[in-house]
Amino acid sequence: LPANPSLLVGAGDDAAVLELTQRQGCVVTVDMLTEGVDFVLSQVSPRRVGRKSLAVNLSDLAAMAARPVTAVVALALPRIGGLELAKELYEGLIPLAEQYGIAIAGGDTNTWDGPLVISVTALGETTSHGPLKRSGAQPGDAIIVTGQFGGSILGHQFDFEPRVAEALALAANFALHAGIDVSDGLSLDLWRMAKESGCGAVIDLNKVPIAQAAVTLANSGDDGDTPLAHALADGEDFELILAVPPDAAERLLAEQPLACGCTRIGEFIAEPGLWQLDAARGRLPLVPRGFEHRMEK
Ligand SMILES: [Mg+2]
Repeated sequence: LPANPSLLVGAGDDAAVLELTQRQGCVVTVDMLTEGVDFVLSQVSPRRVGRKSLAVNLSDLAAMAARPVTAVVALALPRIGGLELAKELYEGLIPLAEQYGIAIAGGDTNTWDGPLVISVTALGETTSHGPLKRSGAQPGDAIIVTGQFGGSILGHQFDFEPRVAEALALAANFALHAGIDVSDGLSLDLWRMAKESGCGAVIDLNKVPIAQAAVTLANSGDDGDTPLAHALADGEDFELILAVPPDAAERLLAEQPLACGCTRIGEFIAEPGLWQLDAARGRLPLVPRGFEHRMEK
């Protein structure tokens, strides 16, 4: 297992011990994937599920501009075939942990008669720039996104690269006011960010970077959605939305420091709500769409 200097006692003892130095904040995030809800094992290999279970957490650490340190893994395995399943999950998870230099500090494994459940808790540390929150966007800030959007169901939802290095590089070199990673849909997560910040957001729909997968999905078209509709509403892009003050945004866009690209898709405004630019009428309301877990009584 990969080591991390912050992990003083790792897997194998009753609990792990972390050294938190320099009063840096410890950033904690957890994500649970359940078979039948988040994936179907007849359609995806356990390796990719294992990789994703850690990658989604790394994406949340990236959203906070935090450096990953360690993670713990909780598994509920089906009684039949559970051992082989666990092995394959780790074969997907460990290489990603190694890639990001994080140690797996421990975990817990149960068996039961239900489906596979994998829950990963990741811990990270903030840098000297502090945590990047959702709530810091100010009117006038540019809305800057990494990468491209839509069609993640065609494979990106499992194979995406969490934007950890990108977030750390941007936070180190540019003034960032707020950030979020897109797990539920570009328009929905942007709307949440604006709401948390007590302001609104207006998108220039012509500027939204559309993934090739969104085009493919639209062309295969059983639902009649356009590539843009997919880009705005499909979940699990795991790209970043950032609020960047105008001067920094201008420099960032000129320098283009990331291989995945950065695009300005609009700006935060004082008036609450989500809006789209309209050439004739200024701006029009835009309904935030995306994935929301259903709750029933
Ligand atoms: Mg998130």
